[in-house]
Amino acid sequence: MHLFQKFLESMSKRNKTFNLREGSFPIQMDLVFDEIEIKEIGRLKDLINAEIKISIISKDLFRCEGRLNTTFIDRCQSCLKDIEVNLSFLTNLVIKHEDLMMDDDSNQDQTHYQDLEYFDVEQLIEEEISLNYPNIVKCEGECLDINPLKEEEKNLPFKKIRDLID
Ligand SMILES: [Zn+2]
Repeated sequence: MHLFQKFLESMSKRNKTFNLREGSFPIQMDLVFDEIEIKEIGRLKDLINAEIKISIISKDLFRCEGRLNTTFIDRCQSCLKDIEVNLSFLTNLVIKHEDLMMDDDSNQDQTHYQDLEYFDVEQLIEEEISLNYPNIVKCEGECLDINPLKEEEKNLPFKKIRDLID
């Protein structure tokens, strides 16, 4: 906790960013967020709990490991009822400077790109949540069972075109 307090003080008060290039590692954080700026997903029901550790691999190359935990309220895509979406996942990714995004061809690790000197940990959390949020939100049971049929229907036009080509 002391470490985190110190870390908070080193964060700029206005934009909550810090300079990753000048950090002392590993940086251990227990973070709690009560809001999130992702539009396309459900609304938050619980706080977002994030335990993350950022360690340095080499100059300008960092690793972020941790776990995230939260619950959203979202709408079932079949019956439109409100349902809970529990999100709980482990994260393990590499952090690189955003300048490298265009010419990076090493796809071994999941990579998060950001400005290292104005590093915003909230942005990393948001990216992780949007990547881990389920594409299909349905009630357990009946509504989930409907899904495969609908998907097949959706693909049918393409199937027909494929048949024509064959
Ligand atoms: Zn449903």
